[in-house]
Amino acid sequence: MAANEGADGHEAAYDPMKDPTRKPHRSNDSGWKYGYWLSPPSRESVVCNLCGKITTRGIKRHKEHLAGCGGDATG
Ligand SMILES: [Zn+2]
Repeated sequence: MAANEGADGHEAAYDPMKDPTRKPHRSNDSGWKYGYWLSPPSRESVVCNLCGKITTRGIKRHKEHLAGCGGDATG
């Protein structure tokens, strides 16, 4: 019986919001507080961390989505 497999569900779940490869290294854009790239290195599709909605055409579109989703990402 392997001790460190994490198969019992107690292993910390993967959190894409904390994955540095899922966001720009340098960005002041508040939209990244609630989103991450669906499939880097592609930057077209951004996943909303609040509802799971996938927007295309980058962070600008994602922020437009957040306006109707409840995320405070103005500015
Ligand atoms: Zn959303």
